[in-house]
Amino acid sequence: MGRRWQLSFWRCLSLGLLFAGLVALLLWLFGGRGAAAEAAVAAQRGVYGADEPLAEMPQRLLPGVMLLTAEQMVKAPLVDGFQSPIGTRSGALTYDAQPFGTLNKARGGHHTGADLNGIGGQNSDEGDPVYAAGRGLVVFSGHAGPGWGEVVVLAHRLPGDARVIQTLYGHLASRCVRLGQMVGRGDLLGTMGTADGAYLAHLHFEVIASRCTEAGQPAYAKQGVMNRLDPQELLTHYPAPPVPDPYTAVRRLRLREAALQQPEPTAELPQGTIPVHPTRFF
Ligand SMILES: [Zn+2]
Repeated sequence: MGRRWQLSFWRCLSLGLLFAGLVALLLWLFGGRGAAAEAAVAAQRGVYGADEPLAEMPQRLLPGVMLLTAEQMVKAPLVDGFQSPIGTRSGALTYDAQPFGTLNKARGGHHTGADLNGIGGQNSDEGDPVYAAGRGLVVFSGHAGPGWGEVVVLAHRLPGDARVIQTLYGHLASRCVRLGQMVGRGDLLGTMGTADGAYLAHLHFEVIASRCTEAGQPAYAKQGVMNRLDPQELLTHYPAPPVPDPYTAVRRLRLREAALQQPEPTAELPQGTIPVHPTRFF
């Protein structure tokens, strides 16, 4: 009885060790390969190249402080003026439901931005386009946590003193720009939303006065207005010329030229495909 028990114990132990060894071998084989493959992909995509150097930026606005990197400071483009981020270029068909600096006792602070709405009221403006107020570099594009929803932040360089400021577009339903992308004034950034149902649809539009985002209670400051500027004043002080941003026009022209240089498709197309030359889109 004792000997049999001893035998089965040793058998169990050896089987267990064999199994553990196999698992370790599998982990080493596939785990190692996975990491190596990931590194290869990262190298190909150029994590430190021109494409995605800003991926190291903190993805959350709060808590903490967002500080533009030296590279972002260099890349922040000079604006030719600012225009309304919703409605028409001059902001017609919109209204500001909670102007900059308004004391909101319920939320315990002064509003650090402007709450822009379509004149239809309620959620009639949900899904309306949100445009870049000025030519800028995307320094944040992501979900910024409860109460914020999807957020895009652009960095701009002001004419005159070449100061770098940022504009923030909050509570979006969707975003269509990525970190590190350059956008022209009036380019689409995303659509108006409700911050995942937290509010009636509106755009929380903020102007940050420097490369650093002084963090406080989301969208409200207990004292003063932190390092924020009045968005309406910015629009009045640096009015955009009544023409499309030349940056956007030049970029579209380049896209068109690139499309014209595309060779006619010669490969056999799948059944049912209607061949269309890219130039026909322009
Ligand atoms: Zn707001």
